[in-house]
Amino acid sequence: MKKILNYIAGEFQPPDSKTFLENYEPATGDIYSEVPDSDKADVAMAVAAAESAFSSWSQLPIAERSRILLKLADLIDEHQDRLAQAESKDTGKPIALARAVDIPRAAANFRFFASAIVNHSSSAHVMEGVAVNYTRQAPLGIVGCISPWNLPLYLFTWKVAPALAMGNCVIGKPSELTPMTAYMLGELATRAGLPPGVLNILHGLGPKVGQAIVEHPRVKAISFTGGTNTGRIIGKLAADQFKKVSLELGGKNPNVIFADCDLEEAIRTSVLSAFRNQGEICLCGSRIIIEASVYEEFKEGFLKQVRELKVGNPYRDDTAFGALISEDHMNKVLGYIHKAREEGGTILVGGGRIHPEDLGGYFVEPTVIEGLDPDCSINQEEVFGPVVSLIPFSSEEEAISVANGTAYGLSCSIWTRDVSRAHRVAHRVQSGVIWVNCWMLRDLRTPFGGMKQSGVGREGGDEALRFFSEPQNICVKQ
Ligand code: NDP
Repeated sequence: MKKILNYIAGEFQPPDSKTFLENYEPATGDIYSEVPDSDKADVAMAVAAAESAFSSWSQLPIAERSRILLKLADLIDEHQDRLAQAESKDTGKPIALARAVDIPRAAANFRFFASAIVNHSSSAHVMEGVAVNYTRQAPLGIVGCISPWNLPLYLFTWKVAPALAMGNCVIGKPSELTPMTAYMLGELATRAGLPPGVLNILHGLGPKVGQAIVEHPRVKAISFTGGTNTGRIIGKLAADQFKKVSLELGGKNPNVIFADCDLEEAIRTSVLSAFRNQGEICLCGSRIIIEASVYEEFKEGFLKQVRELKVGNPYRDDTAFGALISEDHMNKVLGYIHKAREEGGTILVGGGRIHPEDLGGYFVEPTVIEGLDPDCSINQEEVFGPVVSLIPFSSEEEAISVANGTAYGLSCSIWTRDVSRAHRVAHRVQSGVIWVNCWMLRDLRTPFGGMKQSGVGREGGDEALRFFSEPQNICVKQ
């Protein structure tokens, strides 16, 4: 059985406790590897390693830091197939998706921030005849990067890359459900020439080792992506020590379909946005709000395409929809479907567990529900699975009110051919990310993050570089 190890000071090592957790393969339900059950003692070792590496890493010329990160991006590309297979096995996601999205994006994250630091400029403010101010962006020191299981390497590197690029040393913790590609990243980091201690990767349980990272006084900032409840705990702990936090949390995202849109394109993209990665993406559109005059036409086209989705063995190249992450999560999703029935919803397609090719894993059919009040639980709570609800509306005002009617505010897709309406509605929807006539079209320079209970702060581009640094103004009298 494969034993995953922590990566500290450039070395792979077992946890101080010598205890390991079981790691399940979602497609089969079998245990296939063991993950360190790390704790405070491992965090202390990682902090010590990061402290000894910080001075030379932060003072390395930017061009040299950039060169190492570019090399790491190249190595991820070189090992794309191996990484994609590992990601698919660890998450249950289709191998084709891991190959097309997860792993290329991990390489792109390093490449993007390696280039961004080379082009990043500091600012100067001249007080004519009196003084000159210049503001440097100083690295923070040691930072914690904690990421979830749905897009493991993609989201882990989205934090680690800007943190390293700005000259920080990192203690990273992937989800204990999906440790494999972060473990493999350690080996590639060494090969890329990343000095020992600059990147440390600890595995284990969130409330144990994750929390120990958040609580350690030498860790200056926490970048976290995960559930809203966990974000609340982390926010409180960090506030106690006045730590910087960036919280990317849950969503209950609306797709708003106006009658004048390109319906064919809206249907095709809404199927993707509802069911990509089995609905386990924080940006998935789980509430489809449809203008009443095209409701039936949209529904008919949407259901047809959902029935055609190729659900099954994630290791087959033509599979579009794989297994959910864990038995617990599958039961949570099935529980929501049961509740939707109790609350008066009609299941139009899906609704149950399946066993494609007799696999014993955690497969739930893509599920479409209608007839539920916008305020009922399935339209309010994040299911984070393959469940989508159709809701009709009859005026623009009503569409905006339903779109805004949850505690979340991560993303929204607006579908219309009327440009004025697109802007008008976009400005009134309380979401950090708005797409018009598209979904998940990402430019890494743009600010990314949520409003309301979907998060605090923004990632991406300059926002990430600012988060992982401290502005220091130096005023020199003439
Ligand atoms: P969790 O909040 O359960 O976990 C996220 C990470 O935090 C994991 O590594 C977890 O470890 C760790 N963790 C858990 N408890 C603590 C703690 N007390 N202190 C420190 N770390 C802790 O989220 P999931 O992994 O279940 O991911 C799904 C959630 O992530 C969904 O709500 C989804 O919307 C959100 N998400 C948000 C995104 C965004 O950009 N806004 C993007 C992707 C997902 P462990 O796994 O061991 O519990």
